[in-house]
Amino acid sequence: MKPKINSETWRCVTGCGACCNLEPSDRPDLAEYLSSEEMELYLSMVGEGGWCINFDHKTRKCLIYEQRPRFCRVKPDIFQEMYQVEPEDFNQFAIDCCRQQITGVYGEDSTEMLRYNTEVRSRT
Ligand code: SF4
Ligand code: SF4
Repeated sequence: MKPKINSETWRCVTGCGACCNLEPSDRPDLAEYLSSEEMELYLSMVGEGGWCINFDHKTRKCLIYEQRPRFCRVKPDIFQEMYQVEPEDFNQFAIDCCRQQITGVYGEDSTEMLRYNTEVRSRT
């Protein structure tokens, strides 16, 4: 029998947008990883209900995707820079971040979470 390996692969699922809810009270450690300029930018982006002002609620897409700030980019080099996550730990760390954010915004039994789990477990 083959040993069981973690076969989840991080990916951003379309139609989610959970991480575009920027409610500062849900992220008490912002100052630990944002520069003062980034903090200013971050706070300027917080709109109604904590949602980013650049988030299109109908399509659940970012309106400034190509120009989105560093703190919106889920990439190994950026996670290493911002959170000191080693590249080999990026996959699991990013998956955990998404699950935490989806749970907080939509709930752990939400359709969004079900879709997320299906996506990260497929196409291994
Ligand atoms: S929480 Fe994860 S899956 Fe959802 S929009 Fe953000 S990066 Fe994508
Ligand atoms: S700038 Fe775009 S990716 Fe970043 S939080 Fe706002 S909508 Fe989401």
